[in-house]
Amino acid sequence: MIVTLKQGVSEQEISEVISFLSLETAIHTTVIDDKKVLITLKDLGKEITDKLSNIIESSVLTHGVEYPLVSKHHKEKTIVKVKDVSIGEDLVMMAGPCSVESVEQFNEIAEGLSKVGVKILRGGAFKPRTSPYRFQGLGLEGLKIMKETAERLNMLVVTEVLDSTLIDTVYPYADILQIGSRNMQNYHFLKLLGKLDKPILLKRGMYSTIEEWLMAAEYILLGGNQNVILCERGIRTFDTIVRNTLDINAIPLVKSMSHLPIIVDPSHGSGRRDLVTKLSLAAVAAGADGLLVEVHNNPTQALSDGIQSMYLSDFENFNARVQSLYINLK
Ligand code: PEP
Ligand code: MN
Repeated sequence: MIVTLKQGVSEQEISEVISFLSLETAIHTTVIDDKKVLITLKDLGKEITDKLSNIIESSVLTHGVEYPLVSKHHKEKTIVKVKDVSIGEDLVMMAGPCSVESVEQFNEIAEGLSKVGVKILRGGAFKPRTSPYRFQGLGLEGLKIMKETAERLNMLVVTEVLDSTLIDTVYPYADILQIGSRNMQNYHFLKLLGKLDKPILLKRGMYSTIEEWLMAAEYILLGGNQNVILCERGIRTFDTIVRNTLDINAIPLVKSMSHLPIIVDPSHGSGRRDLVTKLSLAAVAAGADGLLVEVHNNPTQALSDGIQSMYLSDFENFNARVQSLYINLK
């Protein structure tokens, strides 16, 4: 149950209500749009909320779901606004290389994407690599390259925050903070992200169920940050012909279970460049709010994820196909 308290209710009244309600069930508190909100997993009876009607602005039953704030019971739709881009409204394209490798590489890719109308640049500066011997990213230097390029081209930056010690380093350089698949279950980290005032792009854990993913998003919302974008990036299955299996089910399911926008990463979702266009079209057809695509000017020489990166020269045609399907389905 989600109970929103009237503005101006005193701290004293709030603590009295919390101790009264906690006779029934555990109470959690947060602040949403400057209003104090009480959350319980168990729905309280009408006789209880009626007793508190002088301090309650509104209350909704959440029927025992473990992700009440993320659920549709709480809200119909969230649009995440980042400067002049609204995620959850029209189809949003986020594109760029897996890793920022040099000024020249990032500039060439960003300029090519900008010409086609892309507004959000992706790029990794601190990379979560399976092998410690592989390129780990340019770090702070990579963040600077991304921000300078994005500002020059009037674009936005989405980049990964690899762990909680890097929040302060990445924060000033990113418009959207990406949380990688490997960190979806880092609950302490998720709590810290709930305290930030920038949107969080939360990738699905590669071994996580849809409900586990929604509960991970709940940590961030409960912390106070309501601007979460979910990103389906494929899950590990028994099939070895692909790196991951893109879970198309997740798109309509998340749309029916949550108000948060969902975007799709077909690059990590398959690990294969030859599948990226078709998976993107499938994602759009299934109702995705956007795509996150790896694009490189020279994929065969890329320092990470070259085999799944689209050629920059193919991007314009790809984008036209995806946008035209989206418009036709609208
Ligand atoms: C990435 O986007 O480059 C990345 C590492 O993604 P994921 O966390 O989905 O593996
Ligand atoms: Mn990658």
